[in-house]
Amino acid sequence: MKDSGDSKDQQLMVALRVRPISVAELEEGATLIAHKVDEQMVVLMDPMEDPDDILRAHRSREKSYLFDVAFDFTATQEMVYQATTKSLIEGVISGYNATVFAYGPTGCGKTYTMLGTDQEPGIYVQTLNDLFRAIEETSNDMEYEVSMSYLEIMQLLMKGNRQRTQEPTAANQTSSRSHAVLQVTVRQRSRVKNILQEVRQGRLFMIDLAGSERASQTQNRGQRMKEGAHINRSLLALGNCINALSDKGSNKYINYRDSKLTRLLKDSLGGNSRTVMIAHISPASSAFEESRNTLTYAGRAKNIKTRVKQNLLNVSYHIAQYTSIIADLRGEIQRLKRKIDEQTGRGQARGRQDRGDIRHIQAEVQLHSGQGEKAGMGQLREQLASAFQEQMDVRRRLLELENRAMEVQIDTSRHLLTIAGWKHEKSRRALKWREEQRKECYAKDDSEKDSDTGDDQPDILEPPEVAAARESIAALVDEQKQLRKQKLALEQRCRELRARGRRLEETLPRRIGSEEQREVLSLLCRVHELEVENTEMQSHALLRDGALRHRHEAVRRLEQHRSLCDEIIQGQRQIIDDYNLAVPQRLEELYEVYLRELEEGSLEQATIMDQVA
Ligand code: ADP
Ligand code: MG
Repeated sequence: MKDSGDSKDQQLMVALRVRPISVAELEEGATLIAHKVDEQMVVLMDPMEDPDDILRAHRSREKSYLFDVAFDFTATQEMVYQATTKSLIEGVISGYNATVFAYGPTGCGKTYTMLGTDQEPGIYVQTLNDLFRAIEETSNDMEYEVSMSYLEIMQLLMKGNRQRTQEPTAANQTSSRSHAVLQVTVRQRSRVKNILQEVRQGRLFMIDLAGSERASQTQNRGQRMKEGAHINRSLLALGNCINALSDKGSNKYINYRDSKLTRLLKDSLGGNSRTVMIAHISPASSAFEESRNTLTYAGRAKNIKTRVKQNLLNVSYHIAQYTSIIADLRGEIQRLKRKIDEQTGRGQARGRQDRGDIRHIQAEVQLHSGQGEKAGMGQLREQLASAFQEQMDVRRRLLELENRAMEVQIDTSRHLLTIAGWKHEKSRRALKWREEQRKECYAKDDSEKDSDTGDDQPDILEPPEVAAARESIAALVDEQKQLRKQKLALEQRCRELRARGRRLEETLPRRIGSEEQREVLSLLCRVHELEVENTEMQSHALLRDGALRHRHEAVRRLEQHRSLCDEIIQGQRQIIDDYNLAVPQRLEELYEVYLRELEEGSLEQATIMDQVA
């Protein structure tokens, strides 16, 4: 069965690129401290290490960092693209999201990697080229719609700061202090006209992040400093996201809302996307601190798992599965029809050629004689039909299983939300507690401290619903496992049945004559066609049901919102009346209208209730 709409865990891919040392760095007397040692490993040496320093003696002078792939000055743009981004394209044109983002301090080559130069085009251009090529190659079967947008986020973030802020900073002459995002959306629809058309949408984000260095390192002042702080808040939030997401064991609350950037990256980091991060460092000794920070963050990012799920628009997950069954069945019907045509053609041709062939006549006679043959054919027909019927049963059971799996997943996320909400509340309280503590011992340098919450804070009692959520999750995870096992078994059974059907069909030519073969094949065709109709009807029912539920949900939300508004309006009215406040004429009129509508509304409702009763 096709795995449309299926989702699987994917590790974030993290690549590291060490750019060539620059002339400026050499002139400053910097030495090379970052080296690529193999395809995946980079070593960073601490230039300040003093072997006589007793406090530091237990540390090693070198620290190695492992990535999915590592590049140094010898890597070409093409090589970087091939190893990081090229493989995402196929996914994007079949409905998956993907994100590539360049990370690292200013001046370390992010823009070079993403944008590149005319002679050495970067990932943007190479990706677009390949994307359009891939679309062209499959455009016989598929219809595509591609849209693109390019935005610099800081421009949106900082209202009033109209021009793009790209004045030189001390860190780098040309580096932008904006995050730049190129977004490509591909919508795909099959040209084969099914009743239920599956529209898939895949999105590719290519992001050139603003520098990750700290404001103090760029010696920025004033407004520049504020921008720097803003960017860094974004990056700090990103860092926190990376930290929290990579913390495998716990269900730490992920505060994606920390900044616009992380909200933008939410899908890439937390959810529905294949994500590649390309971290950048300079190999120069003068950049040691920045490089170490970057390597540490990038190293942590490796533990992030993202969930990849195909985006199906309009059709929900299992409807897509029905569609896939229908497509399969249609394929079968086509195949059978072709077989019938071939059969007819061959039969006629052979009829003409073999008319005088005694062996052929003998065979025909043999086939049409005895009752035994007729019975055999009936049996064969039955076997074929029952193999197919069972196959359909298995498919239905698979669908039910998938539905249950989805419910389990939804339940699980609901419980996870309960827990996450609690963790959030807990950390809020802990933060408050720590703030109070900090006031007491402010002098202590906490720059070395990690951001994780210590255990030394007072225990906060966990509410019962959180404990219940934990228990439920454990049970649901077990069920999920069971379902997966059953699913595998059913899929296996389905394959076997299919193979059996095919084998039976193969024996057709040997056992029966062309007329009967045609008859059996046509019968099979008919069975398949009926099955298509049946499946279509079911999926239509499901679709209507889904749409209805959707509307129901929307109405419920509106109702909720309306009653909130009512409450606010009435509360404010109360204040106006209590304090005898003067209200503009227009507002007074509007309030009258509101009251009237409220009355009519409740009247209407009463009538409806009456009718229902
Ligand atoms: P960032 O975007 O990270 O601030 P840039 O991409 O602007 O950094 O790179 C800074 C400078 O280094 C640019 O002049 C760029 O051409 C050069 N550079 C960066 N990476 C490479 C590389 N791999 N090969 C050659 N030059 C590079
Ligand atoms: Mg740049």
